[in-house]
Amino acid sequence: MTFEELQLLPALVEAVREQGYTEPTPIQAEAIPAVLAGHDVLAGAQTGTGKTAAFTLPLLQRLATQGEPPKRGQFRPVRALILTPTRELAAQIGESIKAYGKHLKLRSVVVFGGVGLNPQIEKLAKGTDILVATPGRLLDLVDQGHLDLSKVEILVLDEADRMLDMGFIHDVRKVLALLPQHKQSLLFSATFSDEIKALAQGLLRNPKLIQV
Ligand code: AMP
Repeated sequence: MTFEELQLLPALVEAVREQGYTEPTPIQAEAIPAVLAGHDVLAGAQTGTGKTAAFTLPLLQRLATQGEPPKRGQFRPVRALILTPTRELAAQIGESIKAYGKHLKLRSVVVFGGVGLNPQIEKLAKGTDILVATPGRLLDLVDQGHLDLSKVEILVLDEADRMLDMGFIHDVRKVLALLPQHKQSLLFSATFSDEIKALAQGLLRNPKLIQV
């Protein structure tokens, strides 16, 4: 299996080659076609499996190939939201998006708690196609009127089990309530407690199930 065979854009194939990846990992081989086809996805995957690229690559492709390209200077609403439990994971995902998306013209911003709000507010003021966020900081920014999530097309819940273990369930549910009903949702979790299953059931529509 090659990245070309997964029908990824040449700009993305080039970027993964520059990362030194020679072939997709099992979760990438399964998730990439499912996400490109527009399906919701429920994936059981630990870190180290290549799960970040499994959602980031097709997400970038969907954003790059769907909808009108924004005009120069036009405000860019958030089209993809990635929720993750920790600032380290948020920063890593942000780096992956930059690396895989280097040949595409999409903007991404990372926000997390424990640091000053103002630099994040300034970045959001310019608009961004992709937002990577920890739940609490995301809600702070929404409450203060710096973020509109009504144009989100793709939602990713990364490490959903850790997000719940860290006590973010209410924050996650508050965020979900701010998103459009019609969207593509991807849920990644290493484990599946009843709470995760309930969250998945409420969120996902006819999801493709992927277990690696
Ligand atoms: P993750 O599971 O997303 O945390 O990724 C684990 C590590 O695998 C990261 O350092 C990635 O850069 C690397 N990685 C992801 N996809 C591939 C691939 N197809 N081939 C080789 N390494 C990869």
